[in-house]
Amino acid sequence: MSKKIILYGAGTEGEKLLRRMEVLQDTIEIIGFADSFKTGHCCGYPILSWERMETTEADIIITVKDQMVMEEIYDRLVRLKKENIYWHYDDRVSLHTVTYDVFLLKECICLKNCVSEKGILSRVEMHICDYCNLNCSGCTHFSPIFERRLPDREKRIADVQKLSEKVGVILRFFIMGGEPFLNPDMAQYIEDIRRILPDTDLWVVTNGLPIPGIKEDVLTCMRQNNVAVSISEYEPTHYVIDKIKARLENAGIHYNIRPYDIKQKFIRPLSLSDNSKYNQRCISEGCINICDGKIARCPTLMYIDRFNEIFGTALPNDGIYELADCPSGEKLMTLLQKEVPLCSHCVENETEWSRCGSKVKLSDFAVVD
Ligand code: SF4
Ligand code: SF4
Repeated sequence: MSKKIILYGAGTEGEKLLRRMEVLQDTIEIIGFADSFKTGHCCGYPILSWERMETTEADIIITVKDQMVMEEIYDRLVRLKKENIYWHYDDRVSLHTVTYDVFLLKECICLKNCVSEKGILSRVEMHICDYCNLNCSGCTHFSPIFERRLPDREKRIADVQKLSEKVGVILRFFIMGGEPFLNPDMAQYIEDIRRILPDTDLWVVTNGLPIPGIKEDVLTCMRQNNVAVSISEYEPTHYVIDKIKARLENAGIHYNIRPYDIKQKFIRPLSLSDNSKYNQRCISEGCINICDGKIARCPTLMYIDRFNEIFGTALPNDGIYELADCPSGEKLMTLLQKEVPLCSHCVENETEWSRCGSKVKLSDFAVVD
């Protein structure tokens, strides 16, 4: 018996997914679209009314990409007592070669665990290596000022576990640094994080340079655990990008690239003044950082103590919380959305991309104005 499916979103994303899913037609039956605003038909399929939705048994795949809109739709569907609700987040596999179940596993997040009182945390990141092989001037994670020492894996994994108990679901989790592939325990981290976060979209964020030389078993582990790679293509990466792509493609790993631009701009992210002549700019994109039992609304805040220690400054560190003590669910989200004193020091100060010299300077990261 074929699986009945409703695609939520009768717009560009919905149409795109419909076209992709047509090759699965032997095992699925797309019975129509749903949409918050549209009625009538889309691509020859009916846009179902709420009454029809209420009485129809089907998997519902939300196709809109905006998370807040997705959450509103999800809430409405839960009120309709719908259960099998998925969010399609990325095109990763050839649907000519996989089944519907594999498509759900590889490209969709099952939203059933998102009990509303615990809420949805959209983006979380964790360093598995604080230092980096590139040492970019202006790195907002301050990697150039960290020692070449690896973190305690059990403690970092305990942080993931603690956080997972406080929220309904984490949509995206970024394993990063520094340069995360410098940590030889990458495979172990991936297995542990995947065990704790079975439904999360997992990414490794890297400058890509170590990829041609990493061990095959790391790539195998990534493929088996459905972990994708996001490559920041800085100038040194650009010269070996074909090798990096070939290695990932041969291993069957999904990746995306933030491409190199000859005029690549970077920023000095901070001003020592809380009333700078530069415009304010937040670079965090809402990405929560966890580290050594703590949680903060962004990496710049999480690592500001290290910055103060190295440069003898006193930038404010309010807003870093003990994970064990902080609240759960919506209350945690609200706490992490609050502006912190450091926000008034975050500025837009563009420079060309470059590496720190042999001695890392305050001016690599901050302006004094
Ligand atoms: S590659 Fe990324 S993590 Fe490494 S120093 Fe540059 S900006 Fe920081
Ligand atoms: S301190 Fe505030 S403004 Fe600066 S990066 Fe973090 S959240 Fe954004």
